[in-house]
Amino acid sequence: MAASLLRRDKRSAAASLKAECCGQDGRGAQLLGELLDSVLSPERAVAEAEVIEWCKCLMAGGESFDDFCKMVRGYDNATLCGLVWTANFVAYRCRTCGISPCMSLCAECFNAGEHTGHDFNMFRSQAGGACDCGDSSVMRDSGFCKRHRSATSSNIPSVPNELMMMSEHILPRVILRLIQHLRDGYSEPVSDPATERDLQKTLQLMEPLISLLEDLTKMGGAMRSILTRVLTNHQIYKDLSSGDHCTGEKTYAKKNYEKYLAALKGSGLVSSEERSVTSVLDQMAGASNVTILGATAGTGQMDSSDEEEQDGSQGIGKRKRVKLSNSTKDSSIMDILKHKCFLEEILFWTVKYEFPQKMVTFLLNMLPDQNYKIAFTKTFVQHYAFIMKTLIKSHESDTMSNRIVHISVQLFSNEELARQVTEECQLLEIMVTVLLYMMESCLIKSELQDEENNFHVVVNCGEPLLKNNTYWPLVSDFINILSHQSVAKRFLEDQGLLQMWMNFVSFFQGMNLNKRELNEHVEFESQTYYAAFAAELEACAQPMWGLLTHCKIKETQEYTRTVVRYCLDALQDWFDAINFVDEPAPNQVTFHLPLHRYYAMFLSKAIRCQQLDLDSLLPDQEMLMKMMVHPLQIQASLSEIHSNMWVRNGLQIKGQAMTYVQSHFCNSMIDPDIFLLQICASRLDPDYFVSSVFERFKVVDLLTMASQHQNAALDTEHERSMLEGALTFLVILLSLRIHLGMTDDEILRAEMVAQLCMSDRTHSTLLDLIPENPNPKSGIIPGSYYFETMLSAVADFKAPVFEPGGSMQQGMYTPKADIWNQEFDPIMVILRTVYRRDVQSAMDRYMGFLKQTGKFCGNPWPPYRERAPLNPSYKGLMRILHCKTLHIVLFTLLYKISMDHQNMSEHILCMALYLIELGLDNLPEETVEEEEMLGEERCSDSWFHGTNIATNLHHIINYVRVRLPETAPEVTREPPASTSSDASSFVQSSNTAQVFSLVAERRRKFQEIINRNSGNAIQTAAVRPKTSKWTAPNSTPQLTTTILEVRESMLSLLIKLHHKLSGKQNSYYPFWLEDSESTSRLDPMQQIHGDGITAVERILIKTAARSRQNKCSIEEICRKVAPPVPPKKSSSADKKALDKEERRQKARERQQKLLAEFASRQKSFMETAMDLESPDSDVAMDIGSSEQQDAETVYDCVICGQSGPSTEERPTGLVVLLQASSVLGHRRRSTEPKKLPTSDEEQIYPEDTCGTVHDVRITDLQQYFKDSSCLQSVSIGWEGGVYVQTCGHTLHIDCHKSYMESLRKDQVLQSFSVDKGEFTCPLCRQFANSVLPCYPEKNEEKSIWTPYSNKNLMTLIKEVEEQQEQLGMFPVSISSITNLSKEMESVMKDIRSTTQKKYIDYGKTPGSPDNDFLFMYSVARLNLELELVHRGGNLCLGGASATTKRSCLNQLLHVLAMHMRLFRIDSAYNPWTRLTQLTQVIDLGICDDEKPEVPLLYRDVSSLLLILVLTMPQELHKEHFTCIVKVLYNLLYTQAIATLSVRFSKEERTAWKNPRKLKTMYNSDKSWEVLLSHIICELSKGKLYSASDTDQVSMLSTSAWSPQSIEYSIQQFCLPFLRTTSLLQHHLFGDDLPSCQRTEEEFGMLASYLGLLPPSLQSSDEVNSSSCLEWPIAALDIISQWCLEVTTSAESHSEQVMNLLVQDPQWSLPCLLQLPENYNTIFQYYHRKACVHCSKVPKDPALCLVCGTFVCLKGQCCKQQSYCECVLHSQNCGAGTGIFLLINASVIIVIRGHRFCLWGSIYLDTHGEEDKDLRRGKPLYLCNERYKVLEQQWVTHTFDHINKRWGPHYNGL
Ligand SMILES: [Zn+2]
Ligand SMILES: [Zn+2]
Ligand SMILES: [Zn+2]
Ligand SMILES: [Zn+2]
Ligand SMILES: [Zn+2]
Ligand SMILES: [Zn+2]
Ligand SMILES: [Zn+2]
Ligand SMILES: [Zn+2]
Repeated sequence: MAASLLRRDKRSAAASLKAECCGQDGRGAQLLGELLDSVLSPERAVAEAEVIEWCKCLMAGGESFDDFCKMVRGYDNATLCGLVWTANFVAYRCRTCGISPCMSLCAECFNAGEHTGHDFNMFRSQAGGACDCGDSSVMRDSGFCKRHRSATSSNIPSVPNELMMMSEHILPRVILRLIQHLRDGYSEPVSDPATERDLQKTLQLMEPLISLLEDLTKMGGAMRSILTRVLTNHQIYKDLSSGDHCTGEKTYAKKNYEKYLAALKGSGLVSSEERSVTSVLDQMAGASNVTILGATAGTGQMDSSDEEEQDGSQGIGKRKRVKLSNSTKDSSIMDILKHKCFLEEILFWTVKYEFPQKMVTFLLNMLPDQNYKIAFTKTFVQHYAFIMKTLIKSHESDTMSNRIVHISVQLFSNEELARQVTEECQLLEIMVTVLLYMMESCLIKSELQDEENNFHVVVNCGEPLLKNNTYWPLVSDFINILSHQSVAKRFLEDQGLLQMWMNFVSFFQGMNLNKRELNEHVEFESQTYYAAFAAELEACAQPMWGLLTHCKIKETQEYTRTVVRYCLDALQDWFDAINFVDEPAPNQVTFHLPLHRYYAMFLSKAIRCQQLDLDSLLPDQEMLMKMMVHPLQIQASLSEIHSNMWVRNGLQIKGQAMTYVQSHFCNSMIDPDIFLLQICASRLDPDYFVSSVFERFKVVDLLTMASQHQNAALDTEHERSMLEGALTFLVILLSLRIHLGMTDDEILRAEMVAQLCMSDRTHSTLLDLIPENPNPKSGIIPGSYYFETMLSAVADFKAPVFEPGGSMQQGMYTPKADIWNQEFDPIMVILRTVYRRDVQSAMDRYMGFLKQTGKFCGNPWPPYRERAPLNPSYKGLMRILHCKTLHIVLFTLLYKISMDHQNMSEHILCMALYLIELGLDNLPEETVEEEEMLGEERCSDSWFHGTNIATNLHHIINYVRVRLPETAPEVTREPPASTSSDASSFVQSSNTAQVFSLVAERRRKFQEIINRNSGNAIQTAAVRPKTSKWTAPNSTPQLTTTILEVRESMLSLLIKLHHKLSGKQNSYYPFWLEDSESTSRLDPMQQIHGDGITAVERILIKTAARSRQNKCSIEEICRKVAPPVPPKKSSSADKKALDKEERRQKARERQQKLLAEFASRQKSFMETAMDLESPDSDVAMDIGSSEQQDAETVYDCVICGQSGPSTEERPTGLVVLLQASSVLGHRRRSTEPKKLPTSDEEQIYPEDTCGTVHDVRITDLQQYFKDSSCLQSVSIGWEGGVYVQTCGHTLHIDCHKSYMESLRKDQVLQSFSVDKGEFTCPLCRQFANSVLPCYPEKNEEKSIWTPYSNKNLMTLIKEVEEQQEQLGMFPVSISSITNLSKEMESVMKDIRSTTQKKYIDYGKTPGSPDNDFLFMYSVARLNLELELVHRGGNLCLGGASATTKRSCLNQLLHVLAMHMRLFRIDSAYNPWTRLTQLTQVIDLGICDDEKPEVPLLYRDVSSLLLILVLTMPQELHKEHFTCIVKVLYNLLYTQAIATLSVRFSKEERTAWKNPRKLKTMYNSDKSWEVLLSHIICELSKGKLYSASDTDQVSMLSTSAWSPQSIEYSIQQFCLPFLRTTSLLQHHLFGDDLPSCQRTEEEFGMLASYLGLLPPSLQSSDEVNSSSCLEWPIAALDIISQWCLEVTTSAESHSEQVMNLLVQDPQWSLPCLLQLPENYNTIFQYYHRKACVHCSKVPKDPALCLVCGTFVCLKGQCCKQQSYCECVLHSQNCGAGTGIFLLINASVIIVIRGHRFCLWGSIYLDTHGEEDKDLRRGKPLYLCNERYKVLEQQWVTHTFDHINKRWGPHYNGL
C-alpha cells in the first residue's frame, strides 16, 4: 500500500493521505506511518533530496510547500523578533532602552524603532546573538520597532487543526530520524583527526534536514508550537526513541538505542536508574571528610598521582597538579543525566558534536515560543555540567565557548526564567559546583611563605584552562544570573553556596607567586600573569561586583554580614594553610588576594550604604595584623619594581605592576587593597603600623641621624627611591578618600581630573581610563549620563584641528583653568599612573598653567590639597599622623636633609612636609594646650612626650644616640662637651639620649598586641621565627654607638630648610612680626601654588595658627642670630644650580658627540662624492661663483653645498617626484560633484568623465583618419599622465648619484625603495624619485617684452616656417654626447617608466615613434593643465597664488623639446602650412590605401600649440611664439563658431546664414556675424547639419541665442586655450602673470598678455573675442579651405561628424565623490553588498572615493595575477594612486604605487573622534574639513609629502 503511494506523484499522494487522515478510522495514520517507514528508512541517506521533498509535500498535504508556508505564516502570533545571528553580524545595543546589559537588536528592528538621542551603539557580534525586540523582560517597550510593538496575539485567528495535522504526524518521525543519524554517526574518542572528520561528515550529511527544520521555525508561532509539542512530549519520546514502536526494524532500532546508551556511558554519565548504586558508594567514600578544604588539610589528602590528564603537560614543568581526593563535586550534578524527551537528547548530541552551528541556530530559532524557551532552559541547565566538561576537553574551545554563550545569554538574561530554573533546577548549585570542578583540575601547591609547610592549593596559571580563558562562558553565565536580584538573593541566603564560593575564590588567593631573582636573570619571561589577572578579574571580582549591587540598602545588611563572616573564615583558613605568623617571606609577592578584596569591598558597602557598625564586622587585632601584611607587601613590591630591584625577573614583572593599577583592574585590586590597609591603620596601633611600613619598604637603616649607615636589606642605590616610595605610600594612605567618605560624584570627578591632568584625552580614551564602578564588564556604565555632565564641568573641548604638517588631531578634552587652580591632585595622579612619566607630564602641564596665568614662575611643588571629610568610622586613621614613630621619622628626615646626608631628595622633603601638613590639618580632638601641660610633666626619657604633632613640632631634641660605622665623621669628632654650654648637662642627657630602633619598636608593639589576645598568645609568640635579618646590622662588629648633639626642633629645622631652599641666610622671618598689615597671608590656602619655600612658609603659618607656643617658638628661633650653618659643601639651592649646570654640561657633551658623529659621516660621504669630480673644480668654483652670478643662474647643490651654474659637462638638476596621475581624467562637466551611491537605484557611470570622453574621441578619429595624424590631433595623459613636481632644491647630478649609492649601502630601513630610484631630498626630506636636469641658460636677450614687434605677421609666419625647415638638420646633441644630454635622456626614460605602457601606446602600431611624440607633448599639456587646476581653474589671481608653488615646468619643457626635436614632421603634413596658406592639395581623401589627415577643425588647438612650440629650434623668440599663438587663435575661433553653429536649431541657423550685415562691411574678417554665416554656408555643403537636427545636440539649447550669449559662449570656448597658453608663455619666458578682479575680465586680460589684442583695445573694458583675430590671409578663403577638409571626409563618417566637430574643452575642477553626512548610510548599504566580480560579500569591503567602485580588500577571491583587487583598481582608476574607504573600519587608506598608508578617518563622532574599526559603534558624521584636506592632497599630488608612515603593500590589498 505504502509502496504504491511511493510511486505516485508526491503532491497527489500527500493530498490523498491527508484526506485519509481526516477520517476517523486511523487508517490514514497507519498508511502514513508505513510511507514514512520507507521514506525515512535508516537505509536511505538521511537527507537526500528525495527525502526532503517527500517531507515537504506530506506536510503541505497536497498544497505546494511555498503556499503552505504562506498559510502557516498567516497564523503567526509571535510578538518577538527573535532573529538569530552568528558571529560577525552587525547588531545594535541601546542603553537607554535596555533593561539587561546583554540586550541587542537586529538592524531592521533598530532602524524601525525610535532611538533618536538615545545612548546606542552598533557592534559586531562576537559569539552570535538574537534580536530582543518585543521582549519586555530585556528591554523597554518604547524601544520596540513598529512591527513588534503592534503585534499582539489577540487579533491573530487561531490555527485550523487540519492545516497542521500532517505536520503533527510527520515531525516526530523526522526528528527521530535525525536522532538516529546522530547516534549512528558518533564514535568516541574525538581526539584523532580521522574521527573528527567522520563527525564533520555526519553533520554535513544531515544539513538539508536541519535546514528544513530551520525553515519550519521561521514559519512563525503556529509551526513553532507544533515543534515544541513534538520536542518536549515525553510519551512520543518514550514510544519512539528506544525502538519499541515498530516491529519491522526492531533490530536496527535496538542497536541504534544501544549506541546512544554507550555514548552516554562514554561521557562518564549514568542514567538515574544507576544513580542509587553510585550514591551509596559515594557516601561511603566521603563519609570521613565533611569539610571541603578544611583547616586540617594536609599532604595526606592530596593525591598527586595524575592519571588521565597527563596529556597537555607543556609548561607545567616539575610542578605537579594537586588533586583533592574528596572532591567538592556533587555526583548528582556532575554525573547523572536521564533524557525524557527529544529536546533533551537533541541537546545531548549537540553537546557531543560540540555545538555545530546549524543545530545551535535551529535550537535558538525556536526560542520565541515561550513553552519551548522554558523547556529548553531547563534542559540546558540539566546538561550544564556535561556541557562544561565537554568544553574543557574540546580542542576548539574558543568556537565552542562562543556557541555556548550564544545560547546561554538568551536563556539567562531573562530574570523570570533565571529565577525559575534557580528554584526548580538548582542552577546556582550546578554553576558553583561546575566552577569548582573546573578549577580543581588544575590545582597546585602554593609556594607562598614556607613552601614545605604550606598546605594551600592554588590554580596553576600555566594551565590551558586558565591561559585560554576556557572558563569564561561559565563565569559569564554566572555573572549574568547574579545580575538578577531574585537570583542573587537566593545565593546570598544560602550559606552552603557561600561557603563553596569562598572555597572557589581561595583557589585564586596567592596564585602566580613571584619570587625576586637575586642572581641570574630569569631564563624566560613567563607570561602567566595575563591569565592570573584575567582570572581574578573575571572569576572573582566580577561576581563580587555582581553581588555587591544587591547589598546597597539597609534591608540587605544581613547578606553583607554573612558574606563578611564567610570571608573571614576563608581568610583564617588561608592563613592557617599557608602557616602564616606575622612576617611575610622576603622577596616574594603575589598580586592576587581576592579574599582580602572581597572582605574589603563588602566592608566598604556595609559602612557606606548599610549603616553597619564597622567594629562589629572587624576581626580581632591579630587577624587585622595578618590581613595588612600581604596588601602592604604588594605596595612595597610596587616600589621595589619601580626602583629596578626586580630587573632580573624581566619585563613581565613591570607588566604586573602596571596591570595592578590599570583602569580596568584598579577598582578590583589596588583600591580595595589600599582601603583594607586604611582600615588596618585605623584600628591597629599607629606606631606598629608606621614601623611596619618602613620595615617592609626596607628603609629602616636609612632612617638614622648618623651621616653614614649600613643597610643589610637594600643596596645604597635603591635607598632613596624606596624611601620616596614609603613616604608616598603613607601620603596616599592618609589622603585617599575613595572608600572613606567620597560620594560617587566626587570620585568620578577626581578620577576624571587626574586623567585629564596627565594629558589631554579624547572622549573614548577618557571613558576607557575612568575605572568602571561597580561592574567593570557589564557594558553599561552606570550613570554615564553623569559622565557627560561631569566632563563638561571639568574640561573644555578642543575641536579637531589640522596641524600645518597635515597631521590630524582628534577632538580632545583639556582641564579647565579652574581645575588646575583648585582640583589638580598629584596624589590621585600618582595612584592612577601606569607609566611613571605620566606624573611628570602632569607636573609639566601644571607648571605651564602656573606660568601662563602668572601664578608662579619657578619649578612648582605638587600642590597640597585639602581632603574630603572622613567618614567617622575611619577617624582612627588619623592617629597615624599623631604617633611618635612617625614624628621621629619626620624629624630625622628634616635633619638629614638639612645636613645634606646622602640619598635624600626634594621628593622626600616634599612628602615629609605633606605628612606634617596633613597632621596639622587633622589635629586630634583634645586641645593642644592640654597635651602640652601633660607633656611637661611626663618623664623626659623619650624623644617626644606626646603624640600630637602640634606639640611635638616645637619640642627640642638635644642629644641622640646613634649607631654608625667607625668610619663616619661623627665618630672621630670630639665629644661636643666644649661647645656645649653645660658639660654636666651633657653627661646627664647622654644617658637619656635615645637610640631609636623602628624594628624594635614594631616588635614591642606586636608583642603587646599578641599579649592582649588571650588564649594562644604565648604559643603564637613562640612560633615567631627566631632569626630575622633585621637584627643583623646590630650585631655587625664595625658599628659603634655615638651620641650626637642635635639641639633642634622640627620647627627650627623647617626654618633652616627655608634658608637652604632660598639660598639665603635668615630668609625666613615671621610676617606677623614684620608687618601687621599683611594679614591676608594668614590664609594658608592662598599659597597653594609654589615651590618648597612656599610649602615651608605655609606650614609655619599653620603651625603658628594651631598653637600659641609654636608661634612663640618660631619667633624665638628667628630672632636668634643666624645659627652656624652645618658643615656642608653646598646648600641645596646651590646644589640644585650645580645639578642644573651639570645636566646642561652633559647635554652639551652629548650634542657635541652627535655633531662629531654626523660630521664624520658627512665627511666620509663627501670623500666618496669628491672622487667623482675633477680635482681642481672646487678651487675654481670658489673663486668664480660670485662673478658668474650676473650672467647665469647659479644653483646650490644641497649635497656638496657648492654653488654654480648648470653646465653641459656637470649639469645640475632639480629634485623631482614623478608620478602617474589620473586626476584630470576624473573631471566632469558638471560642477556638482557626483554622489556616492547608497542604494541599488543609484549608479555612477563613467561616460562623462574627461578621460572617457577623450578616449572615445581618439578612437573615433583613428577609425577614419591616418594614425600618425590622429596622434597629433589630441592630447593624452588625462589618465595615467606623468606629473612632475619639485621641492625646488637642486643638486649636482653626479652628487646625486653618489648620494643614491650611499643610500643603497645604508642598512637603515628606509620607508622608500632606493632600488626604484626613490630618495628623499637631502635638504627638506621631501620624497622624490628623479632629477630633472637644468638647461644651461645661454646669455641671451631676456629683453623686456614688447608686445608688438616691428615685423608684420606675414614675415613672422615666414620666419617660423623657415625655422621649421631647419628642423631636420638641427644638430640635436645626440651627435655630441654630453653629460647633460645623457641626463636628459635618462630623465625622459624615468618619465616614461613612471606610467604604464597602456597610457603611452595609443597608436595602432605599437612602438611607433608617433606614440612617443604624442606622449611627450601630452606630458607638457598635463603639467600645464594641472598647474591651472592648482591655481583654481582660472588665472584671475594671476601670479598671486603661484609664488607658493615651485615649478619645474621650464626645465621640463626643455627636456621635452630636446626629445621632440628628434622627430621630423613631414613638411607635406606640416600643419603650419595648412594654418597659414591656401594650399591646393585637396587630395586628402584621394590616396586609396591611406586614410586622410585629420581636418584642422577636428584638431585640438592646445595640442597643436605644444607641437609647434616644442619642435621649434632652441631659444624660441618671443615674437615667434606670439605669432604661433595668433595663428592658432584664428583656428580656435573658427572652431568655436563651428561648434556654435552645430548647437543652433535649424531655424536659427537659417537666420544666421544670411546676416544682416554685408560681407563687404569694414573689417569683415573680424566680425563674428560674417564668419558665422560663412561657416554655416560652407559646412552646409556637406549636409552636416542634417544629422545634428535630429540629434539631441541641438535639443540641449532650449533658449534662443542672443549676440551676447554667442559672444559669451565663444569666450568660454577660447578661455581654456588662453589659460594654458598664458601659463606656457609664463614658464617659457619668465614674465609675470597678470591678474584681474572679475572673472569677466579674464578673457581680455589673457588676450592682451598673449599679445592678441591690438594695443588700442587693451584698456577697454569689454573685449570682444573677435577683435583678437588677425588673419594672415583672407579669412573667408582659409575658412573655406578648413571647412572643405571636413565636408570632403564627412561622407565616410557621417554619424561621428557632429561629435568630432563639437569640441567642449571646459571641465570643472576634479573632486572626490560627495559623501553622505551620516556614516551609517554608507555602512548599511556597503557592509553586506556583494562584489560584482566574485559576487560574494567581501570580508573587508572597500570603496574607491574617486569613482565609487566597490572592491574586495585583501580578498583572494578577486585576486588577478598576484594583485589583489584594491591595488589593481588603484592602477586602473588612478594610475597607481587610489583612495579607499574601508567600510568596516571607517578609515581611509591611500595607495601610492607600491606603498600605502592609513590616512585616517573622515568620519568622526560627536566628540570629534575617529572610531577605527567601529569598535565603539557610535554614530559617525562626515568631517567636511578633513574630506577637503583629503581631496586637496589628491588634487595637488601631495600624499607622498604630507603623510608619513608609508609601508609596502606587496600587492596584497
Ligand atoms: Zn529584530
Ligand atoms: Zn522588531
Ligand atoms: Zn533606544
Ligand atoms: Zn654637488
Ligand atoms: Zn628639497
Ligand atoms: Zn576608482
Ligand atoms: Zn571583488
Ligand atoms: Zn571578491
